[in-house]
Amino acid sequence: MTLKNAECQLCHKSENLCNSHIIPEFFYEQMKLYDNKHRFNVLSTEPARHRPTEQKGIRERLLCKQCEGKLSAWENYARRVLYGDESIRITTNKPKVIECTIDYKIFKLFQLSLLWRVGISNQDGFSSVKLGEHGDGLRRMLFDETPGSTESYGCIILYSTVNTEITSNMIHCMGMSKVDSVECARLLLGGFFWLFFLSESAIDPRQKELFLQDSGHLRILKINQDPNDYIKKLAFDLYHSNPKKFE
Ligand SMILES: [Zn+2]
Repeated sequence: MTLKNAECQLCHKSENLCNSHIIPEFFYEQMKLYDNKHRFNVLSTEPARHRPTEQKGIRERLLCKQCEGKLSAWENYARRVLYGDESIRITTNKPKVIECTIDYKIFKLFQLSLLWRVGISNQDGFSSVKLGEHGDGLRRMLFDETPGSTESYGCIILYSTVNTEITSNMIHCMGMSKVDSVECARLLLGGFFWLFFLSESAIDPRQKELFLQDSGHLRILKINQDPNDYIKKLAFDLYHSNPKKFE
């Protein structure tokens, strides 16, 4: 089947577009939600939206071949960081945190590409993430391969050690939330919870140190509670540390 050319969402060139993954395929593989025919059972909390088994995850015609290749190189690296590879050196593995030193540019571009893809997707399941004017800024960063500073679109990664049999088998877009008066996007992917801060300003230093650092220092927090309870507590703590900021 040949498809007519359309505009690539990343480079804006008119090309033959790939059927791109919104959520990288390795998350589905890790979750083992694929059956042996490599089909993914689409989960939805709204019964009417249950669709028949779809092949190879949720996809959409978004990117030209060149841009698709760029994103998949970042994905390959992220898969190694998140699901183990002896070349990734874990410096700390304690009950509450895992720390390692990674390539800032590649992993940050991967994180930005996740946020951007979910934000531009037309799929029902991702409609609750609204990027507004950030959408084009993110596209620029990805196109130019400029990861920005530690605080630009910083992301806190949490791994919940409770209910792992449920959370590690979910791809779930949890929509927007406010922390420290900053709009945040929340995603649950293959056991990891991603909290993206859509601002470069109003970032409390304690939040900033939880983001991937431009030195390459990555922290994944292990929590024994619901990730949403963690976010509520974070917002509460920040408010009480500096209530004047919220007036
Ligand atoms: Zn392109």
